[in-house]
Amino acid sequence: MPDSLYFNKEHQMIRKAVREFVNKEINPHVDAWEEQKIAPLHKLFKKMGDLGFLGIRYDPKHGGQGLDYWYDLVFAEEIGRIDAAGISMAIAVQTHMATPAINQFGSDYLKETYLTKAISGDMVSAIAVTEPGAGSDVSALATTAKKEGDHYVLNGSKTYITNGTQADFLTLLARTSDDPGYHSFSLFVVPTDLPGFSVSKKLDKMGMQSSDTAELFFDDMKIPVENMIGQEGEGFIYQMQQFQHERFVTLPLVYESSRKIIDMTLDHIRERVVFGKPLVKRQVLRHRLADWLTEIECLKCLTYHIVSMKMAGLDVTKEVSMGKLVAGRRVPADVRRPGFHVGDAHIAGISGLPPGIHRRRCRRSHVGDHRTHGGLLIRFIQVETHNT
Ligand SMILES: Cc1cc2nc3c(=O)[nH]c(=O)nc-3n(C[C@H](O)[C@H](O)[C@H](O)COP(=O)(O)OP(=O)(O)OC[C@H]3O[C@@H](n4cnc5c(N)ncnc54)[C@H](O)[C@@H]3O)c2cc1C
Repeated sequence: MPDSLYFNKEHQMIRKAVREFVNKEINPHVDAWEEQKIAPLHKLFKKMGDLGFLGIRYDPKHGGQGLDYWYDLVFAEEIGRIDAAGISMAIAVQTHMATPAINQFGSDYLKETYLTKAISGDMVSAIAVTEPGAGSDVSALATTAKKEGDHYVLNGSKTYITNGTQADFLTLLARTSDDPGYHSFSLFVVPTDLPGFSVSKKLDKMGMQSSDTAELFFDDMKIPVENMIGQEGEGFIYQMQQFQHERFVTLPLVYESSRKIIDMTLDHIRERVVFGKPLVKRQVLRHRLADWLTEIECLKCLTYHIVSMKMAGLDVTKEVSMGKLVAGRRVPADVRRPGFHVGDAHIAGISGLPPGIHRRRCRRSHVGDHRTHGGLLIRFIQVETHNT
């Protein structure tokens, strides 16, 4: 009898390899990286690149594995088991946030120079969209790229950029025209070793300390024209498509890390005796755990449905937004609820449980706020109602 509806032996081999890597090369170090508020991404990504983990779906011509979405999901589930959300996010930026547009729309030159090196782990990448005045509303961004001969001159700033202090290149969205509308933006590969680039600030956060998040500044920075991805004026469209990969990868990260939080909570309430009984004997707590597990399973099933749709070549925009909506709600709930069960030990940080939980929190914001997806979904419902 097969032991899975979805995964075969080859999938399980990749799962085992990634899991062993996470258990050996990542999880033993996350306490130190959280403390240091940074992880050595060049060293880590090189090891992952050597094992072929950073290009699961990418073309073998560029060093990728050329595998399908089910393998991609296996990889994402396993990095979701990393004991610090900051590290899984740093990896997902490299594989699903900063490189899909180069792969889909970039020239051979860009693929050869940047994508290949991101896949091999020789370069660290970052995605640079958000600005101090433009978060959920990407079209409000003000960083400009003005064409002058064989260069674009970049001026402006980006904020909350993950991997920002270590990145060798940024996949960056800038305004290339003052005209209103979505065709006034272009997407660039911006090498961070050119004059005019600076990291203006490394940001302090409430969680995900091991992930370096930065504010970046561009002052008359000259970017060669060949570093533009695809066509001028199409960058907003490319980025919206790139966001689909970013949102998708968040789903397994959320349900795997939520599952681990619940397991940690369960371990704690099995041990903790209150009024003469382990907390786990209290029916109200058992029922609540069952509710959480069920919610997570629903998100997982939706994710598997999305993968089946992707495999069939169907558009998953609506389903991914639904997943994002659920995942965005799931994380704050997971952070709050085990705290409720472990009492003041959670707040004091002495139960053994809280550090893991704190390292796993804050997953929700880095791919945009989930509430904006509510608005997007209403548009789908209106169109579907109109068409029936
Ligand atoms: C840890 C971390 C890492 C990040 N990494 C990156 C990165 O690598 N690259 C990058 O480009 N960006 C990154 N971001 C930025 C992130 O994508 C933005 O924070 C996000 O898009 C929200 O933008 P904002 O913070 O400006 O919130 P705003 O757009 O100012 O929104 C504020 C609040 O208003 C509400 N809101 C906004 N729009 C709507 C709406 N339509 N309907 C209802 N409510 C709404 C929401 O509650 C939202 O939380 C990161 C953020 C964090 C916290």
